[in-house]
Amino acid sequence: MNTFGPPKTVLARGAGAHVWDVDGREYVDLLGGIAVNALGHGHPRLVAAVTEQLQTLGHISNFFASAPQITLAERLGALLRAGVAEPVETRVFFTNSGAEANEAALKLTRRTGRTKIVATEGSFHGRTMGALALTSKAAYREPFEPLPGEVVFVPYGDAAALEAAVDRDTAAVLVEPVQGEAGVIVPPRDYLPSAQQIAHASGALLWLDEIQTGVGRTGAWFAHQHPALVDAPVVPDIVTLAKGLAGGIPVGACLATHGAGKLFDPGNHGTTFGGNPVAAAAALAVLDVIEDEGLLAHAEAQGRGLREAAAADPRVVETRGEGLLVGLTLVEPKAAEVVSAAQDAGFLLNAATPERIRMAPPLNLPDTDVAAFAAAWPTILDHAEVAR
Ligand SMILES: *Cc1c(COP(=O)(O)O)cnc(C)c1O
Repeated sequence: MNTFGPPKTVLARGAGAHVWDVDGREYVDLLGGIAVNALGHGHPRLVAAVTEQLQTLGHISNFFASAPQITLAERLGALLRAGVAEPVETRVFFTNSGAEANEAALKLTRRTGRTKIVATEGSFHGRTMGALALTSKAAYREPFEPLPGEVVFVPYGDAAALEAAVDRDTAAVLVEPVQGEAGVIVPPRDYLPSAQQIAHASGALLWLDEIQTGVGRTGAWFAHQHPALVDAPVVPDIVTLAKGLAGGIPVGACLATHGAGKLFDPGNHGTTFGGNPVAAAAALAVLDVIEDEGLLAHAEAQGRGLREAAAADPRVVETRGEGLLVGLTLVEPKAAEVVSAAQDAGFLLNAATPERIRMAPPLNLPDTDVAAFAAAWPTILDHAEVAR
């Protein structure tokens, strides 16, 4: 329906961090399906988990439960509570995408009896009407207005602006721990702890959209648990997840702690596919492999390697992000040209903004691919004619 413009190329298959197009050309996949392919392409344990679950029990309705769904809910709750001293009860609603996870969360916030949401400039929360109402970019919003709700946008990373906007009518403060679509923007380390304090002082919920940053992407299970990103513990009331959670099988989750998990009554929300046993089994395989293969530390190391390789060229003026959510700022706005030159050289990247490149490769990216990128990068910048 002409929503994405013409596709860059038609891909035929993938293995590990590499993909091949229909003409047999090979690429290092440094975008990972936009932070989705956490284990790369065709990881044997993901393939086995999906295959076995589909052979055992593929779909049930939400009149019933399944073991993978229950286990996944418990695992996510335990990861969210890791390092938190006080007991926190966690509840989960499973969806099929990030936007749906945010829709569920938005409806949940309405059950507080308040309707105002304070979100941030540069935010991206998805394309359905509710998620779009929370997304700040005018070009995405304006063709579809009026959008639901009272949503106030404040500058990202600015606790004082947040404090000025949050009041007794505010149902929730909604923040991405690192803004992904905006071009990998990292807030000050006291921002999330301040956001929590500001929200709770007004009786509002703290809702973190970890759809892009969650499940190991930044080198921690959740970005809001990463010591490089926060200077004090944060226990959000709502966390939304999707992208990397099931390594490419569509899944999303709306997690809620404290009282927020109890705001829905039976009949308030629903989904036919959400909590599907195959998707849940895929997500469990992703969590297992991240743990067994030590991919949190690996993502941290490979992210450092990619940033150092990129920054070795003076045409990169700044590197951003944590773990394998990598942002590179170019000396001039030639990100589109760089992405195109990179593809010609056999590397898939993304232009997040006119001057910023984003990388979100598989968490198990091998050393050889980091080295290949390091070797090719100066030539890619030459071919894109980025000024020295
Ligand atoms: C991708 C993304 C979404 C939307 O997820 P979809 O699965 O595309 O609906 C929402 N929030 C953030 C932070 C994202 O990166």
